[in-house]
Amino acid sequence: MKRREFIKNTSLAGGLLILNPKFGFGLANEFSEDELIGKGKPVLYGEGFQLRDEACLKFNLMKKAAKEQGFNIYVVSSYRSYSHQNGIWERKYKNYRAQGLSHQKTIEKIIRYSTIPGTSRHHWGTDLDIIDSTKGIPSNPLSEVHFNEGGRMRKFKLWLDENSEKYGFYLVYTNKTGRKGFEYEPWHFSYKPTALKMLKEYKELDIKKILQSNKLMGSENFTDEFIKKYRTENILDINPSLLT
Ligand SMILES: [Zn+2]
Repeated sequence: MKRREFIKNTSLAGGLLILNPKFGFGLANEFSEDELIGKGKPVLYGEGFQLRDEACLKFNLMKKAAKEQGFNIYVVSSYRSYSHQNGIWERKYKNYRAQGLSHQKTIEKIIRYSTIPGTSRHHWGTDLDIIDSTKGIPSNPLSEVHFNEGGRMRKFKLWLDENSEKYGFYLVYTNKTGRKGFEYEPWHFSYKPTALKMLKEYKELDIKKILQSNKLMGSENFTDEFIKKYRTENILDINPSLLT
């Protein structure tokens, strides 16, 4: 090797070591903090939806299998960025404050149905909300009644129970008695092989610090106690199959 090339190559290797310590120690995370909180720019795939590569591939297989059984899977929501979630958050925050609610009550009310920006699994490109549009798309597509006994998507729900996990898709917010955090969402599925790795890395983040440094509206009112509860209940009280 010529000297000049040698210098070029070793400095390149040195650069890689600095930028990406996993080359040296095997300890580095696979996902950046930005990716985990919806501020990254993941490469996404899909027609009419957005998922990471492998999740998209498996989802298309599941969609095809469902089609063969007479179900038309329609994606209501898939990848959502931090700024998308932040738009929802700020609109609701201003609205509840204008109604005279305290900061604490405002936050409590929003998180009954919406996630805090930076904490949504929809940021990961692994999660999606799906319905069966065989009988058309109802005005309130994401409603439990369609999936319950007698509902228009009941048969689809039973098919998902039997088949979704074969494709790697797990229900996140189950109807298990006593489960805390977000309400039962029979439409929200997560691609486990990628999402489990992302959750493991996500758990290492200092959420309070991140949200405050992002100047999230109302985040100055997040107490340590609130964040701890949100983490335990909303982020981690999910389908146990998605935790290990
Ligand atoms: Zn969802």
